[in-house]
Amino acid sequence: MIIEIIPCLSDNYSYLIYEKKSNTVSIVDPAEFEACDKVINKYKKLDFILNTHHHVDHVGANLELKKKYRSKILGSDSDKDRIPGIDILLKENQKQKIGNLEFEVIFVPGHTKGHIAFFFSKEKVAFTGDTLFSLGCGRIFEGTHKEMLKSLNKIKNLPPDTKIYCGHEYTKSNLNFCLAYDRNNTFLKEREIDVLKKLRYNQPTIPTTLGQEIETNIFLRCNDPEIKYALDLNDSSEVEVFSKLRDLKDTF
Ligand code: ZN
Ligand code: FE
Repeated sequence: MIIEIIPCLSDNYSYLIYEKKSNTVSIVDPAEFEACDKVINKYKKLDFILNTHHHVDHVGANLELKKKYRSKILGSDSDKDRIPGIDILLKENQKQKIGNLEFEVIFVPGHTKGHIAFFFSKEKVAFTGDTLFSLGCGRIFEGTHKEMLKSLNKIKNLPPDTKIYCGHEYTKSNLNFCLAYDRNNTFLKEREIDVLKKLRYNQPTIPTTLGQEIETNIFLRCNDPEIKYALDLNDSSEVEVFSKLRDLKDTF
C-alpha cells in the first residue's frame, strides 16, 4: 500500500492509495480536482473514490474525477443523498475490498451524522476525516458531544501503532490548544519540537500514530486526572470534560 499525501485548498489533505499487485488506484476525500488529478495522472487511472463525509471540502472533486476516470464512489449509506455521485453504500463495521486491500467501515458520527472512517487492519492505517485530527478533533456540527466522544473512543480502541491520516493540517493550532491545558505533559513537549520542525520545512505533520495521539491529544485524554484538574473538573465525567474542551476549542 502506497499512500500519497495531496495538499488541497488551504489546509485539506486528500490521499491517493495505490496497491501494486492488483494495480488499484483509490483516493480518499478528493477536495480539489486539479491538485488530485495531477497526482492521479502518474497512474493513468482512478478506480475508487472514498468519502469520509459529505462536506464540500471532502467531496469537491467527486463528480469531475468520476467523469474522467469512471471511478466508483464509496460513502456512508446514511449520507447517500448528500455524497455526489455515490455508487457503493457502506454500513457500520462492513468490510470492503478495493483491489487486494480491505478496509473496515467505522461509523463515527458527530462532526456529521453519517461520518465514517476507513480502517485497513492489515496495514494498520486509518483515514479519520474530520473526526480525529492530529492533536485535535473535528467540530460538532450534526451530532452531540456524547456521540462525538463515543466515535473518538471507537478510534481509540484500534491498535496503537495504527497510522492516522486525517482531513486537515490543523496540527499547529491544535498543538497550541493542547499546550494551554496540558502543560505538564512531557510527551506533548517532545511532540511540539517535532511538529514545529516539520512545519518549518513545509512538511505535513501527517500521518500521526494512534499511540502518539493517546499520549498527547487532549481530546483522547478526557479521563486523565491531570486534565480534569487543569479544567477544575475533578469530579466530572469523561463526557463533561470532553464537552468543556470542545467548547473551549471552538473559541480558542
Ligand atoms: Zn468536514
Ligand atoms: Fe473538512
